[in-house]
Amino acid sequence: MKEQSERKALVLLSGGQDSGTCLYWALQKFGEVHALGFDYGQRHKLELELAAELAHQAGVSFYVQTLDTLSAVSKNALTSPAIAVETKLPDGNPPNTLVEGRNLLFLTFAGIYAKSKGIRDIVIGVSQTDYSGYPDCRNEFIQSAQQTLRLAMEVDFEIHTPLMWLTKAQTWQLAGQLGVVQIIKEKTLTCYNGIPGDGCGTCPACMLRQKGWDEYQKRSTD
Ligand code: ZN
Repeated sequence: MKEQSERKALVLLSGGQDSGTCLYWALQKFGEVHALGFDYGQRHKLELELAAELAHQAGVSFYVQTLDTLSAVSKNALTSPAIAVETKLPDGNPPNTLVEGRNLLFLTFAGIYAKSKGIRDIVIGVSQTDYSGYPDCRNEFIQSAQQTLRLAMEVDFEIHTPLMWLTKAQTWQLAGQLGVVQIIKEKTLTCYNGIPGDGCGTCPACMLRQKGWDEYQKRSTD
């Protein structure tokens, strides 16, 4: 098998902080990087535009797969404009921004696309540390998905999750080590209200992002 630095990788790129950081992580580790995004009727199309911009800046190809049937079968605040984003997490329940099975679907398409391009390394920016009640962000799921893709397509796929055990502050730190903090800070969208960069500042995604940023700043000035 080829060395990692000579292999090609496919990054799932959404336009958010996590996948943006993964894009640059992959560029450092692999010889050639491609990116894949999904248009699944998410609230903010701007996310995909930012993803395209990030990929372009990084000199990486970006393919967008349309999955517009997902919103027809999934009721959640990310794909249904009629449902307001819950600003507080209900006790013990995942937030209403959860799109059931999303990463399972994304990884399936990623596997098919990767195989067609002769790629066996897939990079996804999920994290169990701050997983916010999204079951398909957990390591156990990723391990299982890797096994399923291998069996389904007879490719020795490896799913890389560089953020799996990182906090949001450590994800900023990783962006710092990769020398891309400013790009990630300005050119990604995490906010549920669709405001890029530092966002609206009040939605749960913005608060989590800001909290991580503050911790990162505190640590780097200590
Ligand atoms: Zn926000």
